[in-house]
Amino acid sequence: MSPRRLYFLILLIALLLISVMSFLFHQGEQLLLKRTSLIQATEEIQLNATAAHLWFEEIMSGDTSESIDEVWRYIDLADWYAKAMLEGASNSEGNFYPLQNVELRSEIIAVRQALKSFKSIAQQRYINLAESIPGSSLDSQLDTVFHDFIQQAERVQIQVQHQIDRELRQYRYISIALIFISAIMSILLSNFLYNREKHRAKLLESLTQASSSIEQKNKELHQLAHYDSLTGLPNRILFQDRLEHAIVHATRTDSNIALLFIDLDNFKYVNDQYGHQVGDELLKLVSHRITDCVRIDDTVVRISGDEFVVILPEIEGLNSAITVANKVAETIVDVMQQPFYLAGPTVYISSSIGVALYPEDSGDGEELIKLADSAMYHAKETGKNNFQFYSDELNRQSLLRLETERDLRAAIEQDQFTIYFHPQWSLDSNQINGLEVLVRWQHPIRGLVSSDQFIGIAESCGLIDKIDFLIMTKALKQHKLWQQAGLDFGVMAINVSSISFTREDFFNNVSHIIKQCELDAKTIELEITESILIENDKYCQQLLASLKSLGVRVAIDDFGTGYSSMAYLKNFEVDTLKIDQSFIADFDKNSTSEIILKNMISLGIDLGLTVVAEGIETPQQQHHLRELGCHSAQGFLLTKPKPAAEIEQFILAHQSNNVISAKTFEPNQ
Ligand code: C2E
Ligand code: CA
Ligand code: CA
Repeated sequence: MSPRRLYFLILLIALLLISVMSFLFHQGEQLLLKRTSLIQATEEIQLNATAAHLWFEEIMSGDTSESIDEVWRYIDLADWYAKAMLEGASNSEGNFYPLQNVELRSEIIAVRQALKSFKSIAQQRYINLAESIPGSSLDSQLDTVFHDFIQQAERVQIQVQHQIDRELRQYRYISIALIFISAIMSILLSNFLYNREKHRAKLLESLTQASSSIEQKNKELHQLAHYDSLTGLPNRILFQDRLEHAIVHATRTDSNIALLFIDLDNFKYVNDQYGHQVGDELLKLVSHRITDCVRIDDTVVRISGDEFVVILPEIEGLNSAITVANKVAETIVDVMQQPFYLAGPTVYISSSIGVALYPEDSGDGEELIKLADSAMYHAKETGKNNFQFYSDELNRQSLLRLETERDLRAAIEQDQFTIYFHPQWSLDSNQINGLEVLVRWQHPIRGLVSSDQFIGIAESCGLIDKIDFLIMTKALKQHKLWQQAGLDFGVMAINVSSISFTREDFFNNVSHIIKQCELDAKTIELEITESILIENDKYCQQLLASLKSLGVRVAIDDFGTGYSSMAYLKNFEVDTLKIDQSFIADFDKNSTSEIILKNMISLGIDLGLTVVAEGIETPQQQHHLRELGCHSAQGFLLTKPKPAAEIEQFILAHQSNNVISAKTFEPNQ
């Protein structure tokens, strides 16, 4: 109980006791006063009457010095006291309260009557002095009346005494009862107040507990609503709030904001390969690494699966904004490349980042996010593991993407696609030994659109498998026609996107078309990228085995761009390695590229595969690759890709020479 409440309780009980005590004191005093005055009155009645009697007898005995008036005065005084007992009165000795008791009152009335009789007989005697000598009948009558009066007065005195005793007893009982009741009430009151206090204290405690648990719940709800449960970073909702806040501040202070949109490269691979638990662990570490790259005032947000956003607010001047964003993005790209030592495996990933600046690129938050996102997309397209700033050019590209996506649907329905062929030749015999099929889009407005302008878009909007199937059908039909015409060009290589390749009906579709066209499967090669093999390990092993049993050849396209580890190759039944053109373009300038190229070629040879170098543009490159033991080449050195009719003429022209002109292909000649 609080001291204030205790004090209040004591005060209450004290007040109760004081009021009981003062009531008892008052009652006691009243009783005493009554008692004193009543006893006094009864005594005074007797005393005055006796004095009157004595005086009267003196006068009657002949004492003339005494005055008869004195006798009457005594009698009147006795009667005054008797009257005072009936009606109440006051004199110098105090107050006289009227008696309530009916019996006593009638006794007093009788006393007064007796006094009256005494006075009247005394008066008779005084007037008839001669007949009232002592011993006369009047004298004895007076004595009798006086005697009766005295007896009555004594009786009154005794009764008054009794009544007062009774009242005193009553008073005592009432006092005891009152003290007892007030003691009980004090106990009950203190008990009640104590319990009430206890209850209040409990209530207060449970209220405090409830309010703290509500506070806790609110905190948790706030945490859930605004923070990502896996990484503990702010989520999209809080991000929008922070961005709006940053924009308001930047507008007021005329400062800049840099927005970094980060997407992890190959995260899906980690998730599929090692499971979601490892994926989650990786995301946590990624969030720590990103957070470590920024200042305490910057905001790092996880906005979805493997996408993060960083807000770098309050940067003075556009140039500083570019510098800061550059530095942070560069650091993030760098730290993401470092190995992640997880509980189980050690994982290697990278990141692609898009940067947009406020207010340079846009004054609107939503717009800014979109711009950073499209810049990130651009970073993906330029080989991942890098960052790109948003620019108008990028914006134009993203609009084009949207249009392309819309137009592609019509293109499939109306079959606006055509195929070009790009020859491969043997570096041993210089003879054409293959044709790669490359799709072209005959766009009604844009004209002929090359594949790199729409294949990526078709992949991201889920249209690629339809296109691949269309092209494969077209290509194999052409293959059949050339076969029937006796045109010998070796294998026909068809590009297959990873999305098409991993579709359940892929094998059935391929075998169906081959059968329909009645072609020898050995003259068909499917080009797939190495990422498909890594990401779909078991499934691919089976599919490749089935394709092998059908007789279809499989080439790994753009080899060297995907994964640094090449050991996986031995697990898959593939026939050809097509070394990516970036290694060819680079190797005479970059000694590292040359070493890698050498190793890739010898690895292919060791595994018994046909090695094809892509993007041969110069006789020097061709010469060099031949020296390194590469089997075949493909590139603009021989020709650019051509439509069916032109490539047919091209092949025929070269077949008539039977060999590819040494003059064209050897360096310094
Ligand atoms: P890719 O499979 O690597 O095809 C080779 C690309 O390199 C072709 O570009 C070709 O024109 C180009 N190229 C060949 N030799 C040289 C050279 O010496 N120098 C230079 N600078 N380029 C050379 P294209 O036709 O634009 O195709 C781009 C990519 O589009 C292809 O790369 C392939 O991945 C994809 N693609 C093409 N057709 C199809 C298709 O029917 N289906 C699928 N899924 N993808 C296709
Ligand atoms: Ca290819
Ligand atoms: Ca290629």
